[in-house]
Amino acid sequence: MDRQGSQQETGRAQRIVMKFGGTSMAGTERIRRVANIVRAQAAAGGGSAVAVVVSAMAGETDRLVNFCREANALYDPAEYDVVVASGEQVTSGLLALTLQSLGLKARSWLGWQLPVRTAAHHSKARIEAIDAPSLVEALEAGEIAVIPGFQGVSDDGRVTTMGRGGSDTSAVAIAAAVGADRCDIYTDVDGVYTTDPRIVAKARKLKAVTYEEMLELASVGAKVLQTRSVGLAMKAGVRVQVLSSFVGEDAVAADKLPGTMIVSDAEMDELVEKGLMERQLVTGIAHDKNEAKIILTRVPDKPGAVAHIFEPLADAGINVDMIIQNVGRDKGETDVTFTVPQADLARAQALLEDKRELIGFNRIITDSQIAKISVVGVGMKSHAGVAGTMFRALSDRGINVQAISTSEIKISVMIDEDETELAVRVLHTAYGLDAED
Ligand code: ASP
Ligand code: MG
Repeated sequence: MDRQGSQQETGRAQRIVMKFGGTSMAGTERIRRVANIVRAQAAAGGGSAVAVVVSAMAGETDRLVNFCREANALYDPAEYDVVVASGEQVTSGLLALTLQSLGLKARSWLGWQLPVRTAAHHSKARIEAIDAPSLVEALEAGEIAVIPGFQGVSDDGRVTTMGRGGSDTSAVAIAAAVGADRCDIYTDVDGVYTTDPRIVAKARKLKAVTYEEMLELASVGAKVLQTRSVGLAMKAGVRVQVLSSFVGEDAVAADKLPGTMIVSDAEMDELVEKGLMERQLVTGIAHDKNEAKIILTRVPDKPGAVAHIFEPLADAGINVDMIIQNVGRDKGETDVTFTVPQADLARAQALLEDKRELIGFNRIITDSQIAKISVVGVGMKSHAGVAGTMFRALSDRGINVQAISTSEIKISVMIDEDETELAVRVLHTAYGLDAED
């Protein structure tokens, strides 16, 4: 699946962006292991040009966020960025030092040095452009570039960060900017699975998954990649591979490792034709326990009522996911049920209470003991019956579906949080995803 031929075709060394997450960077011992993997990749294919994007050490960003909260509960996001960006500054310098200790040429490039230009939306900035010429020059000269993920710089020269998990997006953006042959995301799992292997022992690692499927899986709780990074990879056509950084002492180049490759629909068709992938109706099952449910009772059943509910939430940047307007009661009233991230529940509740008059609801009921279970697969586009199988399998086990939402390639249901593991297992079997013994 890799582009072994690219070197001959283009006459330049293959360019690889490698990204290592916090678990892989937690401490100098592990950084040494990462350095070994980087060395192997740099030597691969007669010499590859390598840029490495790193996360802060595991737990470090949480620690820094807490410092900000302690210092000032209503912290200024611009100063928050100065603090939290430091975690990646430390690991990028340490990795450059470790690579140098192995006799390799390496240097760090901080967000403001490259620069990685972002809008000034502190704590959730989006990458606008990466000026790559000097980076490319360094790579071509055989120097390994080590780049802290998650950080950038705004037009007015201040440090920005890109939202939690943002290093994945940094890596994909760097890969796009340098025209990388591949972006390898090293993490603490060795690929993308049909579902969480900690819940289903018979979960299978996928050789490949399409961008579209990965985008849906990431957005509904599969934590392997930041959702935005997948969207960017899809748009920019970056080849992304997910693989494990825990490979023991003899590190090998990723060209030979069986991770999960994220591919286009056309590539997936090719893999199926060659018998390398099986065509499945459902590719993966994800769960998310981080949503909460809000029910507003006896909302007037008339035009404009739901706008009054959702406009203030949108203005406050609160993401509403599933929405159901229950069947109208008598007297022109109805109940409206929807979900928001658990972290925003208190804020959402306060906002709605504030607008009680305007919306005209009777009671507000909240519940964070819910989970969202999603089945994802491009196969759904052309096949009926996927939803039927889901509802039958859940009801056979007495699992009650409280809300449903769908997209072209995804069906999500809201259930009681206590039934999460059971539901995931039952569905994994129902769609024939269990590995054979
Ligand atoms: N260190 C940041 C975080 O924990 C960014 C990342 O690791 O992707 O969110
Ligand atoms: Mg991550």
